[in-house]
Amino acid sequence: DPVEKIAAVGGSRHPNIPLPKDLFGAWRNSEGVDLQDIDILAETVSAVNQTRLPGEGRGRAASGSKLDPGLRRGGSEDLVGRAAAAFPAWSAAPVEDRAAILERLADLLEEHRTELMAYAVKEAYKSLADAVGEVREAADFCRYYAMRAREDLATITLPGPTGERNAMRLEGRGVWATVAPWNFPLAIFLGQCAAALVTGNTVVAKPAPQTPGIAARAVALAHDAGVPEDALILAPGGPEVGAALVADTRVAGVAFTGSTATAKKIARALLDDDARPIVPLIAETGGINAMIVDSTALPEQVVADVLTSAYRSAGQRCSALRLLLLQEEIADGVIEMLSGAMDLLTIGDPADPRTDVGPVIDQTAYDRLMTYRESAKDRWIKTVAAPATGHFVPPTLIRLDDMDSLTSEFFGPILHVATWKAGALADTVARVNAKGYGLTMGLHSRIARSGEVVEAMARVGNLYVNRSMIGAVVGSQPFGGEGLSGTGPKAGGPHYLPRFCAERAVSVDT
Ligand code: GLU
Repeated sequence: DPVEKIAAVGGSRHPNIPLPKDLFGAWRNSEGVDLQDIDILAETVSAVNQTRLPGEGRGRAASGSKLDPGLRRGGSEDLVGRAAAAFPAWSAAPVEDRAAILERLADLLEEHRTELMAYAVKEAYKSLADAVGEVREAADFCRYYAMRAREDLATITLPGPTGERNAMRLEGRGVWATVAPWNFPLAIFLGQCAAALVTGNTVVAKPAPQTPGIAARAVALAHDAGVPEDALILAPGGPEVGAALVADTRVAGVAFTGSTATAKKIARALLDDDARPIVPLIAETGGINAMIVDSTALPEQVVADVLTSAYRSAGQRCSALRLLLLQEEIADGVIEMLSGAMDLLTIGDPADPRTDVGPVIDQTAYDRLMTYRESAKDRWIKTVAAPATGHFVPPTLIRLDDMDSLTSEFFGPILHVATWKAGALADTVARVNAKGYGLTMGLHSRIARSGEVVEAMARVGNLYVNRSMIGAVVGSQPFGGEGLSGTGPKAGGPHYLPRFCAERAVSVDT
């Protein structure tokens, strides 16, 4: 039954019960699929076949590079110049106007949900359940940042001696360059733009070269919602466009989600020119995310949460589980159950409601993952059959004799498993910390003290206890890490917007 199947894949603990609406209107768990969503899935499947992607037939590289990568100054190609010219009026508008526009955009996203989901499936190979979450999260970002902006941008009165009036406020910095990933081609792309826009900045937004179509639709809807054309300008293209944007000394800040290596490149480029102002970089990158399981955990729940965390979205989430750390005593039993559960995964066409795991994003990703997987063949514990044509990486479980030996992130459906000895919980957390990443960590344990130890020690942005490690919900699980995993502040959290702003304090002797 496809309905049950989608609900199960949805990962929601109450898959068929729509969560109550709260003060955010359409605010719900962005990962769950409810019956209301099921109604539009069939429509989405047929929309997938009708959606024509930009550059379709010419290959993805061609589809990405439509604009002059030089973003030349002067003339219509000077995207940063146009965004800079739009800044004064946009930033001077009342925050309420900008917040209302974002809320209109959220409504438009929901109205156009079928079409946007079709793009997510066709361009990014999202499963239908993930496509539901994609649109929902994008709308959540718009509504959440609208709400936060009203509060964050209000003038604060500060104390002082009699005869002195002190106040401070936040306002936009100028033109932000946003550089988005293909794995959340709507939610993260638009989340970055929404945060920059609502705080009074204008934006030149670069989507991933693999997903320009959905980004173009998102920008068009933003314009329909009332964002002025030049306040949000799309800059599709490959790394050369990103490099040109970041190198532009008129850019007042960069929001980036992608690889650690690219984040470092951007950081270096921003510091390259001595004459250039020092501008903020908000980077959200990858992780070697571990889940620690002790002997008190419920094996059935562990298996369900491992499947979701490691293999949903074909493992193509920054948050995804890469390293499963089982207490020795229970390792064999959990691995046996997990292997059995892996046999039940359906790998195939993302537009098919029965699919659990679709293809990875492109040939390059496929080649990298398959080469690594092949190199570890003697340590395979379990792998499952996948279609031979297309970029399908078979979900695989790989044994590690030493948990320290995993030092890079493999962005796909490949999970490593190692064991730890009773009494070594703190040491295990320390060894995960020592990898230098700090995005997500999971713990499955029924011992309260173990929860406290891990919570105190884990150097990660998002710790998940007795649940899956993916699917951070805007406003409930602000998302982002530290160390090699990024700079913070967390997207969908209460401290995100201020980083997009300049702070102004005014002191008047009355
Ligand atoms: N926020 C997503 C999640 O919690 C991950 C975002 C990413 O992959 O960058 O699963």
